[in-house]
Amino acid sequence: MSSATYSVTLIEGDGIGPEVAESAVRVLKAAGARIDWDRQEIGIPAREKHGVLLPGPVLASIQNNGVALKGPVTTPSAEGYPSLNVTLRKSLDLFACLRPVKSLPGVQSLHADVDLVVVRENTEDLYAGVEHEVVPGIVQSVKVVTRAASTRIAQFAFEYAAANGRELVTAVHKANIMKLSDGLFLECCREVAAQYPKIQYREMIVDAACQHLVLNPGRFDVLVMENLYGDIVSDLTAGLVGGLGMVPGANLGDSCAVFEATHGSWPEAAGRGIANPTALILTSAMMMRHLGEVEIAEGMESALTAAYLEGTDLTPDLGGTASTSQFTDQVIRYLPIGVAS
Ligand code: NAD
Repeated sequence: MSSATYSVTLIEGDGIGPEVAESAVRVLKAAGARIDWDRQEIGIPAREKHGVLLPGPVLASIQNNGVALKGPVTTPSAEGYPSLNVTLRKSLDLFACLRPVKSLPGVQSLHADVDLVVVRENTEDLYAGVEHEVVPGIVQSVKVVTRAASTRIAQFAFEYAAANGRELVTAVHKANIMKLSDGLFLECCREVAAQYPKIQYREMIVDAACQHLVLNPGRFDVLVMENLYGDIVSDLTAGLVGGLGMVPGANLGDSCAVFEATHGSWPEAAGRGIANPTALILTSAMMMRHLGEVEIAEGMESALTAAYLEGTDLTPDLGGTASTSQFTDQVIRYLPIGVAS
């Protein structure tokens, strides 16, 4: 089992964040992970205590530890705040967002055979934050696409495919309309694809890709795309496997990694114990794999599968009445014998 103790930054987030973070921390502990949590706050709780949304020590903590587990954080719309999530990803140059979307046996969902991975560029596109008012009543948002970032994310997608036995990379784009920006993105993907002759490469326009994903997700393997399409396609694909409560994620850079589920803070559900913690538990398993603790990650994943096959303690999003913590207890009961501490 675990041979090392890891220092990991923990940001619980707000909304449903503290509840799902507590579940993930409990499952990790029971699975045998030895972690010294370095607890940090960002967003609304940080502003209440420290007067700023993203205190400097948070970035330093993630840089020192190299790894963070993060719950979702609310960004108020149209109040002039930049998105904290975007700021965090850009500040730490977490350029690749990786979201494996997989059907779990026992979960009622639109499709039972989904096994795809969304790779989203995390630092530019319309999320560059370049917006201005030209004259009253006319605003512009600038879409920034660079050769460097497009090549880097394409390389990440092909490397991931090669390392994980994946056979097909699909570049998702809208180059028929945005000929320069998405055209450059595609050009970079093609150049990188040429260096990986064993991996099939395909391109698909984003709207058509959405239709094919809904009708026949088995046609997809690894998908690589710019920031906005990646945001939307992630939620669409989550809908194929039971919803946002099911899909994990990681933001990866060259020097550190922030593991966070695909879902947001679902403020209406805060404190009600109805959030499904599966996404953050799977995210924690991804983190353990990243740390080299494959056995612990596999134990957590198989406990989740067993809990779903049992199917008695499901959260409301999947038609059950169990609370976040009751479902967590069920997962812990199914962890491999001998690892619970
Ligand atoms: P959301 O993901 O919070 O919720 C959308 C819907 O998904 C919910 O109504 C619910 O039906 C479902 N859902 C989400 N999480 C679930 C879970 N764990 N279990 C079961 N069902 C779940 O998206 P939103 O409402 O668009 O965003 C709310 C806030 O979260 C916004 O402020 C947004 O900016 C923020 N956000 C943060 C992150 C992040 O921190 N990484 C990501 C996305 C959105």
